[in-house]
Amino acid sequence: MNFAYTPTQQALHAQALEFGRTVLEPNTAARVAARSFGSEAWGQLAEAGYTGMILPEAFGGAALSAADAAVVLEALATACSDTGLLFSLGAHLCAGVVPVWMHGSAEQHTLLHEVSKGRCIIANAITEAHSGSNAFALRSTATPNEQGYTITGHKVFCTNATLAHHFVVYALTDVQKGFFGGISAFLLPREAVHVGPALQKDALHTSPAAEVMLNGVQAHTAQLLGKPGAGVQIFLHSMNWERTLLSALHCGSMQLLLNRCMAYVKARSTGSHTLAQHQSVQFKLAEMAVDIETSRVLVHKAAAFIDTGKNATAAAARAKVHTSEAFVRVASAAVQLHGGNGITSAYALTQFMADAQAACIYSGPNEVLRSVLAAQG
Ligand SMILES: Cc1cc2nc3c(=O)[nH]c(=O)nc-3n(C[C@H](O)[C@H](O)[C@H](O)COP(=O)(O)OP(=O)(O)OC[C@H]3O[C@@H](n4cnc5c(N)ncnc54)[C@H](O)[C@@H]3O)c2cc1C
Repeated sequence: MNFAYTPTQQALHAQALEFGRTVLEPNTAARVAARSFGSEAWGQLAEAGYTGMILPEAFGGAALSAADAAVVLEALATACSDTGLLFSLGAHLCAGVVPVWMHGSAEQHTLLHEVSKGRCIIANAITEAHSGSNAFALRSTATPNEQGYTITGHKVFCTNATLAHHFVVYALTDVQKGFFGGISAFLLPREAVHVGPALQKDALHTSPAAEVMLNGVQAHTAQLLGKPGAGVQIFLHSMNWERTLLSALHCGSMQLLLNRCMAYVKARSTGSHTLAQHQSVQFKLAEMAVDIETSRVLVHKAAAFIDTGKNATAAAARAKVHTSEAFVRVASAAVQLHGGNGITSAYALTQFMADAQAACIYSGPNEVLRSVLAAQG
């Protein structure tokens, strides 16, 4: 077991920190205030090779392993407080790009070049209002016909929907089989679906989400991702990536908060003492550091499982549960350590509390993941 970054990872980390600090962060406050997605920043992420970072070079990607991508995403989130932009990137890569890369046909793979160039965003649409956390209780149907399938359904909370060029959509191709081989994944172009207005939300301000309506979409069999009935497997595989790499973002956000707190408590003096001189303040900082380091270890264990082809389900679930709840603690501590300033817009810290709470819900609520972990032993 080696806990050090490889020389390549050290270089990736340094590059991503510098990129996040100099390119992404300067306009973050304006984007967050306007609650607007960073289209220009997305182009810059693409130019730096980040929108297709996990894709093979044959698709114009940077061929990063999951562990390398975790290093990059953590560094970006350490340097850049635009959590929405980075969440959009992570969701796109893991729940959109991974299914197409891993399960798509040669024809579907042609899209991946556009992904690497930042010209194609892929959204994942599985959640439905009535099924929620129980994602596979979905009711959208893809009814076989002579031309392929007619897809009807209504998806909610679809990250990046207002921007996406393609959607990975999950629907029942066999209602009787349901979870057991009756759910299939389709790759649909934007023109095929109807996207609702952007959801008004109070977390991840710059990451757009919307409902997606499938009003009798006619899909060709070539638009299936993988085989008919492979939807559950495709989705769960993508969730292993998502739970791991979004957890890397949580690590980065926590590190950003700790860095800010360290600077603040050393600079802030109330009378004869700086805040940093109080033992209880030091303990809080130490607890934040422990939360960050334990999170990092779990992320890299899950990433190593993905990279070595092991079953990553439990490792990814553990990483997601722990990092999101650590993020809640760290965000709350960061606000507390800043005192009254902590709740002012100028310090922009309370947004992290909402983002951390969202992290306990997306990619499977932590209660559901605890059930997965309990079942796995
Ligand atoms: C920021 C964000 C981005 C998202 N992006 C996408 C996306 O791109 N694509 C997509 O398809 N979906 C997406 N989702 C949807 C997400 O997967 C669902 O919100 C999640 O699965 C929970 O479903 P729900 O919101 O309907 O909550 P519900 O199912 O109503 O659950 C509410 C709460 O009840 C509890 N609960 C639920 N089930 C159980 C259980 N079995 N045991 C114990 N407690 C339970 C949990 O506390 C849970 O948070 C996103 C959600 C968020 C918040």
